[in-house]
Amino acid sequence: MRGLYIGRFQPYHLGHETVLQEISQEMEEIVIAIGSAQESHTTTNPFTAGERMEMICASLRAVDLRSRCYVIPVEDINRNSIWVAHLQSMIPQFDVVYSNNPLVVRLFSEANVAVRKPPMCRRDVYSGTVIRKTMREGGDWKRLVPESVAAIIIKIGGVERLSSVSKSDAS
Ligand code: ATP
Ligand code: MG
Repeated sequence: MRGLYIGRFQPYHLGHETVLQEISQEMEEIVIAIGSAQESHTTTNPFTAGERMEMICASLRAVDLRSRCYVIPVEDINRNSIWVAHLQSMIPQFDVVYSNNPLVVRLFSEANVAVRKPPMCRRDVYSGTVIRKTMREGGDWKRLVPESVAAIIIKIGGVERLSSVSKSDAS
């Protein structure tokens, strides 16, 4: 059986890694779809699809899951009613989708795809929104992501990028 896991992974964090390890107990293979692939260099989407792919693949290698996962960027279509079909046209066939995102759950349920909701893992801190905020405020974000993700973010100057794109030229 093959499972699908979708996210924006801005950035990929320890909550995502925990969920993937749980999915790997139930599924032989996992398709990881990187959503909003066209987005980068914004406050909510600081990293490019390529950078997110590197983060995910490096972390999968560290937990020995790389050979069982497909990692595929998928651009937004901005039309929810046909988004599932769009996604299906871009990724390998899958049996079950794993998501906690209410819109994603709704769209797949309406398309008669089996949906499983993985339990949340320390959602108060393992959250892209919280991690981006922590980065902007100079807090300790490194403990919230896999080591290989922290190394990539440091290498590409991710924290400085987030701080630059958060600024305005208004005054
Ligand atoms: P953002 O705050 O930017 O939306 P996020 O942490 O929700 O970031 P996504 O890439 O949107 O990350 O999440 C992908 C999937 O992972 C979604 O289904 C989301 O509900 C789930 N997820 C995110 N954080 C956790 C967590 N700590 N435990 C379990 N699932 C999580
Ligand atoms: Mg989210």
